[in-house]
Amino acid sequence: MRKIRSFWPQHSLSDKLAFSFTHLGLIGIILFEFFIVLPIYHEPFTKMFCIQIAIGLYLAFQVFSNLYAMIIFNSSIKSQTNLPSVLYPDWVYCNFCQLNTPPRAHHCPVCNVCVLKRDHHCVFTGNCVGFYNHRYFIMMVFHLWLGCFYCLLYNIEYYIVMLGNIGFGMLLKLLFPLLAWTFGFLNSYQLFIAFIMGINCMAMLLFSALVCFQIFFISSGQTQFECRKKINYYSLSLLENWRVVLGNRWFLTWICPYITSKLPGDGTDFKKSSIEMSPVYSNVKYL
Ligand SMILES: [Zn+2]
Ligand SMILES: [Zn+2]
Repeated sequence: MRKIRSFWPQHSLSDKLAFSFTHLGLIGIILFEFFIVLPIYHEPFTKMFCIQIAIGLYLAFQVFSNLYAMIIFNSSIKSQTNLPSVLYPDWVYCNFCQLNTPPRAHHCPVCNVCVLKRDHHCVFTGNCVGFYNHRYFIMMVFHLWLGCFYCLLYNIEYYIVMLGNIGFGMLLKLLFPLLAWTFGFLNSYQLFIAFIMGINCMAMLLFSALVCFQIFFISSGQTQFECRKKINYYSLSLLENWRVVLGNRWFLTWICPYITSKLPGDGTDFKKSSIEMSPVYSNVKYL
């Protein structure tokens, strides 16, 4: 059974700091776009102004609703009520949880619990990405990438006006904004804009890499852990691999996190493309 729990990270200080930074950063960027950049490009309440606001609100809705869905639908092993008291083939006993855990589940040292089909621990949501919430994680990251791309395209003219043409000079201002401000190459407001543009560019690179890695892992039917350990016997066809993450209505999941899409199984039993069991798997249960 899935459990609803507190949104605030419970486990570590780094989770709490990253969770706060994510929220403050996202809200700050939205306010900056709506109240500083947008009125420069479009007269308030004109048709184009309202379209841009609608696009911004849609992206913010997708990011925040997927983020909270990811926290609500956590994949902790303790959400399972039907764990066997005997060890089935491919199952492993977790000394920390003192439970028999299914294939692909791993113990998270931060959450201090085994997580079904664990992919990784996400500090920005203070939660593990696993069987029940992988769909929301990939949708959140994809919309974050889309938002960063949109902001960069939309703001580039404003950035150029504020910081000068794209070139070596702008790169130096972005890499060393405080030095540029100290030596008078930037005024205080330009320092603020350089800071925003730097975050925008770094976030764009980070989310581009995350989206590419996630597409690669999901397409190859592996979690991050399984990719590192070269475990690929859960890889099925391309479509089946995506169904394991997005569910049977995978083609609708990008619209909204509230659209239900039933996942195959309950996270304890997975189809294999090969019946061979790698000896590496049972030796590396804990991360
Ligand atoms: Zn455990
Ligand atoms: Zn975790």
